[in-house]
Amino acid sequence: MREGAPALEVAGLGRRFGGFHALRGVSLRVERGERRAILGPNGAGKTTLFNLLSGELPPTEGAVFLFGEDVTRLSPHQRARRGLGRTYQTAHLFAELSVREHLFLAARGSRQRRTSLFSALTERPSWQRADEVAERVGLAAERGAPAAALSHGQQRQLEIGMALAGGPRQLLLDEPAAGLSQGERSTLLGLLSGLDPDITVLLIEHDMDIALEFASVVTILHEGQAVMTGSPEEVQSSEEVHALYLGAVRG
Ligand code: ADP
Ligand code: MG
Repeated sequence: MREGAPALEVAGLGRRFGGFHALRGVSLRVERGERRAILGPNGAGKTTLFNLLSGELPPTEGAVFLFGEDVTRLSPHQRARRGLGRTYQTAHLFAELSVREHLFLAARGSRQRRTSLFSALTERPSWQRADEVAERVGLAAERGAPAAALSHGQQRQLEIGMALAGGPRQLLLDEPAAGLSQGERSTLLGLLSGLDPDITVLLIEHDMDIALEFASVVTILHEGQAVMTGSPEEVQSSEEVHALYLGAVRG
């Protein structure tokens, strides 16, 4: 870790699938504690970008730096050990396991991987940690409930809890609000706004209102390229963005 380095730096990042460029020439710099939204239509390359950041896919070009360290060739586990946590676009839950059991396993897994470099929180017994996280993501009353008994919104809260159980310094959230009702969205937005301000958060979001409310900086991806990065106000008033994205989505 380099003192003063940004949380994330990506240089000329690209990924081809055969002859198809899912992502190309993406360069980003995300400061520590920043709230960054990644917006773009379906197929823009948002999830591919996250897969390259978390190490689930190797890039075909470019490099990824976490807190100043080149992690381009590191495995997902090695990146998690360096403080990267993520959620997935599709649910990764076990129907019969309880909220507490999910969080216990997520906390224990990260504890086994970690060293004393990390906060005292991760040193505590994992059941206690599981209960703390359940509380933090608004599932204290559902601790004993199996995942299958949770509402869709609560399942999303649990997935964020599982990512938090590892004590991440940087969190990647892939469309956590997709398919949620209006009420569930506002619960989720409350949860996201209450996250530890030291955690850097990248949020892929389809809902423009959530993205613009949550983020301090927005990056627009279009056909695999980062076409604009700016404040929510800059993005909203950009004609290019309207032509490329807002126009397409809002008709
Ligand atoms: P988004 O998350 O923005 O909707 P994705 O990153 O999932 O977009 O996908 C970007 C493009 O790359 C899409 O056209 C998709 O079909 C393609 N793609 C993604 N993953 C693969 C893969 N493993 N093999 C082939 N094509 C893929
Ligand atoms: Mg996606």
